[in-house]
Amino acid sequence: MESLSNKRKVLEVKPLNFLERAYLPAIAGGLITTMKHFFRKPVTISYPEEKREFSENFRGMHSLKRDEDGKERCTACGLCALSCPAEAITMTAAERQKGEEHLYREEKYAAVYEINMLRCIFCGLCEEACPKEAIYLDGDIVPADYLRKDFIYGKDKLVEAPLNQ
Ligand code: SF4
Ligand code: SF4
Repeated sequence: MESLSNKRKVLEVKPLNFLERAYLPAIAGGLITTMKHFFRKPVTISYPEEKREFSENFRGMHSLKRDEDGKERCTACGLCALSCPAEAITMTAAERQKGEEHLYREEKYAAVYEINMLRCIFCGLCEEACPKEAIYLDGDIVPADYLRKDFIYGKDKLVEAPLNQ
């Protein structure tokens, strides 16, 4: 059958000589390549014992921020979830009760806020969409785990520690 490009390369199959049949040049070439790499600076590191310095633009784990008085900034407006292309964010809003003014900055807050880290692609759109400067991807790498359910991070992992801790 004619090829689409109509190009054809005829390959000539030469018989192997004695050295080629013994594979000696190929083995010697392989050993030389291996030896050369012994004296080169390794390009890999022993993660997690060693860690590379991240770029300033690195996006790591999310953190839900508190304001200067230690109150949670998030008002559960849902804009981060709406802008998330991976549909990784879910939340349940609640109304701030009397006596909770020191906990939540706005009258509405996120009683439940969850991010599925297996879905997240760390694009940073949630950070950009937030009108309250409540979410930033300024954390570390999300650590490995065994179960899918352990990658759904709730407020216990996401909210910044209180100011007095
Ligand atoms: S970083 Fe991107 S993918 Fe991850 S939760 Fe935010 S918007 Fe969704
Ligand atoms: S993190 Fe920001 S965008 Fe997301 S619900 Fe809270 S206030 Fe709204």
